Parts: sequence; structure tokens; C-alpha cells
Amino acid sequence: MENCLFCKIANGEIPSKKAYEDDTVLAFYDIEPQAPVHVLIVPKKHYTSVMDIESADQALLSHMIEIAQKLAKELGVSKDGFRLVINTGENGGQSVPQLHIHLLGGRKFGWPAG
Ligand code: 5GP
Repeated sequence: MENCLFCKIANGEIPSKKAYEDDTVLAFYDIEPQAPVHVLIVPKKHYTSVMDIESADQALLSHMIEIAQKLAKELGVSKDGFRLVINTGENGGQSVPQLHIHLLGGRKFGWPAG
């Protein structure tokens, strides 16, 4: 989508440090990492939030989880554990209105989330 920061990153208009890419998804390192490992997994098609996901998109969401698993292994956090986060809307703390999964690892996280 025009004027969407993550769509511009996903189509290469804005550079990023890539962790993974295929035809439908780009994963790149967060510019302001909150953990030793902090990667964002973003679909190339625009979805404003997880609320835009419909039944027909379930394969994409499950593909994004597969990529999270693969990156967690590759980046060395699968054994000790990690956190996947999808912030949604204002109360959810979403600051970029394009669906993305945060993969966070390399330290311990508290619960409940602050
Ligand atoms: P949200 O708050 O929407 O869940 O997550 C957005 C994330 O995008 C934040 O963690 C923020 O640091 C990251 N971010 C914002 N702008 C950029 C950017 O231009 N490049 C990269 N790599 N990350 C960004």
C-alpha cells in the first residue's frame, strides 16, 4: 500500500537489514531492538492489522509462524525460548499500521506484559 512504511520496506523502496525473504514475506531487524534478537516478520501484501486477516489468509499467517520458527532456530533462540508478539491497534501498542510479528529473544521476558 502507498505510504505504508513496512510496505515500502517490503518492496525494497526503503532499505532494511533482511533476515529472510520470499515471494510473500520479508523479515528484517527492528531499528530499535528491544532484545538481543528482534526481527519483524511482515507480509508483502498490506493488512492494516491482524483484524484484516480472513479465512483465505490463514495459509499466510501460518507461513509467517513457520518463518518465525526457522529464524528462531537460525538466530539461536529456539532452545532457551522466545516471544512472538502481534501488537494490534492503539491499546495493543501497534505503532506501524501493517501486520507484523515481532520475534524477540536472547533475554527473559516478564508477564503480564507492561
Ligand atoms: P509496533 O509498535 O507497530 O508493534 O512495531 C513497530 C516496530 O517497527 C517497532 O518495534 C519499531 O522499532 C520498528 N520500526 C519502526 N520504523 C522502522 C524502520 O524504519 N525500520 C525498521 N527496521 N524498524 C522500524
